[in-house]
Amino acid sequence: AHLDRIAAVDGDLNSFLHVSDADALATAAEVDARRAAGEDLHVLAGVPIAVKDVVVTKGMPTTAGSKILEGWIPPYDATLVERLKAAGLPILGKTNMDEFAMGSSTEHSAYGNTRNPWDLERIPGGSGGGSAAAVAAFEAPLAIGTDTGGSIRQPGAVTGTVGVKPTYGGVSRYGLIAMASSLDQAGPVTRTVADAALLHELIGGHDPRDSTSIDEPMPGLVEAARQGAAGDLSGLRVGVVKELSGEGYQAGVSARFEESLEQLRSLGAEIVEVSCPHFTYALDAYYLIMPSEASSNLAKFDGMRFGLRVEPADGPVTAERVMAATRGAGFGDEVKRRIILGTYALSAGYYDAYYGSAQKIRTLIQRDFDAAFTRADVLVSPTAPTTAFKFGEKLDDPLAMYLNDVATIPANLAGVPGMSVPNGLSDDGLPVGFQILAPAKADDRMYRVGAALE
Ligand code: GLN
Repeated sequence: AHLDRIAAVDGDLNSFLHVSDADALATAAEVDARRAAGEDLHVLAGVPIAVKDVVVTKGMPTTAGSKILEGWIPPYDATLVERLKAAGLPILGKTNMDEFAMGSSTEHSAYGNTRNPWDLERIPGGSGGGSAAAVAAFEAPLAIGTDTGGSIRQPGAVTGTVGVKPTYGGVSRYGLIAMASSLDQAGPVTRTVADAALLHELIGGHDPRDSTSIDEPMPGLVEAARQGAAGDLSGLRVGVVKELSGEGYQAGVSARFEESLEQLRSLGAEIVEVSCPHFTYALDAYYLIMPSEASSNLAKFDGMRFGLRVEPADGPVTAERVMAATRGAGFGDEVKRRIILGTYALSAGYYDAYYGSAQKIRTLIQRDFDAAFTRADVLVSPTAPTTAFKFGEKLDDPLAMYLNDVATIPANLAGVPGMSVPNGLSDDGLPVGFQILAPAKADDRMYRVGAALE
């Protein structure tokens, strides 16, 4: 049914870069046979899933939305993909995204825009617009995204889906094409909080192949969602982050946010205001740290090892000139912009002024979170300042595009988990997201609150 749905609507949406019909049907048939034989399978066995194209899949094309990886077929699976396969989830295919996960609209994909199923003239968010659109449009019941600065949560918000960025180290990064290694996390994109909990428990947990993976049992997420759905939040302290609301937020976004606070109060939660003064600098710090790490991570795309190889049009064919020609032709403008920014920020003489200062701000943001979590069990805000904007609206103004991440970035800088749950429709009839943040390794708290709001 999902493959039929993809065939019917993906010509309009462009959520998928690759559809793996045959593999998905083979897995589904195998699961059916094993179930018929009385085997006790995972609860999600047979439930199809779409995977963002930045996650490597053995034998299945993986481009990260870039021309530089066109035609590359990975020889191995990411840990999270291994876990999906072991549990019997058919993989429907790979979803569209901003090139190397750089963007908030999916307009930076080398393979065309993904359209928002709510309004085909509008962006589905980014960088994981393909995964969010696929789930919102019923092309897939579940999807995997990655979130370096909001790329799971902001697409979730603007497409009316649930998106979760786990605690840093909660889900293995082995087999993710790295953008900024100290910020990247993979997580679920779903239609309900309970679905997200099931998927998160399946892909999460320790992996010795990722040196930053947390070697401790995960909190019970499905159980927390079940508790939340029962609707009693008495004793829970919910902190409204002063710096993440008010000015700059669309009126309809703020109105829905206030209504949800009222709902939480009626379920017994205590609402307190907290201040995180250094969040004001989060965007500045992020847009130095992220490009710095990306400039280093993307150095491996050199025309020698993976995908595209372009020889210089004339003159000698030296290694250096092949690398320059390949990177010049293979990377899009946004990727080039960030590599240049990153190498500049890291260069001798500027390192302390830019990268060093950004790292200090990162510490101050972590301390803001620590202080806020002594006063509140979870923190909340709108996920994004506006609903989905129109194609082209922010494409020529990188700073306006970056501003979309103002509420999602602090969580990545501090490594804490974040969830976006659907929060009704704004006055323009488009979906709004409600963001819940919890302390590191306390992802269960978000599931409790998210499920209570559903
Ligand atoms: N929009 C942010 C950026 O462009 C977030 C990206 C992400 O989370 N992958 O960097």
